[in-house]
Amino acid sequence: MPRHDGRADDQLRPLTFTPGIAPHALGSVLIACGNTRVICAASVEEGVPRWMKEQGVTGGWITAEYSMLPYSTLGRKPRDIAKGKQDGRGVEIQRLIGRALRTTIDLELLGPRTLWIDCDVLQADGGTRTASITGGCVAAAVACQALVAAGKVARSPLARMVAAVSVGMVGGRPVLDLDYIEDKDAAVDFNVVLTDEGRFVEVQGAGEESTFSQDEFQALVALGSRGVEQLIQRQQAALV
Ligand code: UDP
Repeated sequence: MPRHDGRADDQLRPLTFTPGIAPHALGSVLIACGNTRVICAASVEEGVPRWMKEQGVTGGWITAEYSMLPYSTLGRKPRDIAKGKQDGRGVEIQRLIGRALRTTIDLELLGPRTLWIDCDVLQADGGTRTASITGGCVAAAVACQALVAAGKVARSPLARMVAAVSVGMVGGRPVLDLDYIEDKDAAVDFNVVLTDEGRFVEVQGAGEESTFSQDEFQALVALGSRGVEQLIQRQQAALV
C-alpha cells in the first residue's frame, strides 16, 4: 500500500527554510516540513546560569524552549500560561532540543553567555520536535555567524550541525518523516538525532501499541540516519 500522500517510504516531506523570520532575534528561521511549521529563533544573553558560576564551570550555555501556538493544532490548544503550568510533553521536548543543540556549540568559544533557542510551533502535523531541532540548529548557526560579525567571539562557536527526523513502522513497513496521520497509525515511532559526521546524538523510540524486532530497530535507525543526512545537506544549503 502506498503512503497516503504518495511519498516513497524513504522520502522526506517537502522541506523549506525561511531565514530571518524574526528580525529581532540574532538568528532565526521558519522551517517547514510538509505541513509542520516551526519558528526557530536564537537569542544571546550575556551571562550564564547561576549553577555554572557556583560550580565554577567555564564557557557558555545553550538552552531551548518549545511551545505550540494555540492555533497550531486542529482544536485550539490553550497557552500553558492560561493553565498555570507547562505541560509535561513540552518540558520533555525542550530538554531533547537543548541536549541536541548543545552538541552543536563549542561552549568555551561561546564565552560566558547563554544562547536561547526558542521553538514555537506555527502549524503541527507530526514531527514538531524533530523540525525544532533541525530548524533550531540553523537558527543557532546564523546566530554564531552574527556573533563573529559583531566581533564578540574570535571564531564561530558552531562546532557541527545536527538534524533530526522521525521514522516509524506504518502498515508493517519502516517509513521516514511521519506526518500526523501516519504518526497516529504507527505501531512503532522513533525520533533520531544525528550530527553532520553521522554520529548519533539521541534515539527516542517506543513501540506504542506494539513491539519491534532487532531487524526492525536496525532498519528504522538506518532509514532515519539517511534522512538526517539529506536534512543536513539542506541546512548547509540554507546557510550559504
Ligand atoms: N498534537 C496535537 N496536540 C497536542 C500534541 C500533539 O495536535 O497537544 C499532534 C501534532 O500534530 C503533533 C502530533 O500530534 O505534531 C504528534 O505529537 P507528538 O507528541 O508525537 O510530537 P511530535 O511528533 O510533534 O514531535
